[in-house]
Amino acid sequence: MGDSPENTDGLPWETDVEDDAPSAAELEAAGQNSMFGDAPEPQVTPAPSPEPAPMPAPTPVESPAAATPAQDSAEPAQPYRVLARKYRPQTFAELIGQDAMVRTLANAIARDRLAHAFLMTGVRGVGKTSTARLIAKALNCIGPDGEGGPTISPCGVCEPCTAIAEGRHIDVIEMDAASHTGVDDVREIIEAVRYAAVSARYKIYIIDEVHMLSRNAFNALLKTLEEPPAHVKFLFATTEVEKLPVTVLSRTQRFDLRRIPVELLEAHFAEICRKEGVEAEEEALHIVANAAEGSVRDGLSILDQAIAHADMDTGGKVTAERVRDMLGLADRGAQRRLFAHILDGDAKAALAAVDDQYALGVEPLALMRSLMDLTHRIALTQVSGGEAEATTAEEREQLTEWAKRLDVGQVHRLWQLLLKGHEEVRHAPDPLVSARMALLRVLHAAGMPDPGKLAKQLEELAARGPAPAASAGEGGAGAPTATLDWEELIEKVSAAGKLQAESIMRLQIRPISVEMGKLVYTRDAKYGDAIEPVLKDALYAVTETRWQLETGDPALATPSLEEQRQAKAEAAKAAMKEHPMVKAVEAAFPDAEMIEDGADVPPMRREVPWNRRA
Ligand SMILES: [Zn+2]
Repeated sequence: MGDSPENTDGLPWETDVEDDAPSAAELEAAGQNSMFGDAPEPQVTPAPSPEPAPMPAPTPVESPAAATPAQDSAEPAQPYRVLARKYRPQTFAELIGQDAMVRTLANAIARDRLAHAFLMTGVRGVGKTSTARLIAKALNCIGPDGEGGPTISPCGVCEPCTAIAEGRHIDVIEMDAASHTGVDDVREIIEAVRYAAVSARYKIYIIDEVHMLSRNAFNALLKTLEEPPAHVKFLFATTEVEKLPVTVLSRTQRFDLRRIPVELLEAHFAEICRKEGVEAEEEALHIVANAAEGSVRDGLSILDQAIAHADMDTGGKVTAERVRDMLGLADRGAQRRLFAHILDGDAKAALAAVDDQYALGVEPLALMRSLMDLTHRIALTQVSGGEAEATTAEEREQLTEWAKRLDVGQVHRLWQLLLKGHEEVRHAPDPLVSARMALLRVLHAAGMPDPGKLAKQLEELAARGPAPAASAGEGGAGAPTATLDWEELIEKVSAAGKLQAESIMRLQIRPISVEMGKLVYTRDAKYGDAIEPVLKDALYAVTETRWQLETGDPALATPSLEEQRQAKAEAAKAAMKEHPMVKAVEAAFPDAEMIEDGADVPPMRREVPWNRRA
């Protein structure tokens, strides 16, 4: 057969498959990088650096399944392996949180109705690649006696089982589509697919992050997917199933791997701690499980770190306090007290609470984040209309109470305010000061009615608006009669179509006295043109009287109509600004500005970009 090693050995992706021990690929697979920035160090260094090897020593070697020892011997120099790798599930029973998928698969195997291609979807760290390897084992296991067929409980001891577990089975080819996206890579597969498996029942291609393949690569793959040889199975894994062409989706059996619930993760981590001989507080594990956000792998990375920390400073016990420190998480109770102070409008207590948290090592940004989290959960409770979801009775009670007490609009505004605060704190030169200011602003605005009502009230305010404040403040002593006539006179001039005269009278003339046939006025010094002929003509037209025009003492003059209008508008705006409602809005939205004709634009139309992954 033309098949054989050089065919598979030469495959380009073989090189970086995580088959042999070295750490780059391994740590990547273990999820270190994306969890803690770019440095795998935190997990790795604690072992070698302090002399007395603080990591949980290789005591519990016997715990994982029989499949692993080979790996242990492969890396004798570094006895410590990251938990995520050490506890990679070796049987379907060890794969937590995916019961539905396992059942379906068991049925398919039992009835010999296996699809040619499987697609594993789900967020990172839920076990897609682990599942793919398990399926590979299930399909290729020959049992301890070498006689077995495909099974949902692979033995873990036969040659195919051990080889697959170690990623060195010649017929199980793992490829990371993220680094091999091209059509050539796929062509190699298609070429190789024609040859029978070397030693196993099935030739299995595991393609991770399959959505990264190029369009051409997909097209090349399609033909093979349509009619794959009976001895070939494809196992695809992806975090972004919506990016797959429908033609591929329709040719695969899809398994949606679910986020693993917190309780399950917690129990899992407790079990691992037991196996590792590590003592851990229940609450600590709860925090880790929460932070894992449904991913076993991420959770184990955190646990790794927590154990390393514990070894260094708390005598090996993983405590909630240290985990909280490590993750920069605020103590939930303290957050709730702070939140309560804000809602109660108790500025002093709120600031003291912020400082306390800071002194405990809680980052201001994390603090804002945790308050946002509380707000979010209040909103969820309001939507569900029932009891809040919470880990402690105390927390549940308080969230439920807030959900009842606050109206929906208030909750949304709290969110907006905190979101804005979060942004500010993130970019502030002094995050603590920024957090204090942001929270004060939240506090002052917290008691206000919701934006809808507020907008309405502002409209009413604007409609009622300028009158009282504006008229009180202005106008010289004798002015009223003069201005009254004056305004009427301008109306008449306007009605007579003398628009130039009207404009001059309205904009430039500051009347001192207006009597029939005689106008005493001043003009701003900037006007130098001769206006009298135009005015006389217009006044004659509307009054049938010859007018005498005189300039007088500027100190006695009334402002021009236009100047009066502007002054009124200013006064009205100032009066509005003094209104407590508007002040509150400004406090809440310092960037917002008053817009004339505010009636059709609610004062708060803002968008703050919010990055979930922050
Ligand atoms: Zn086996």
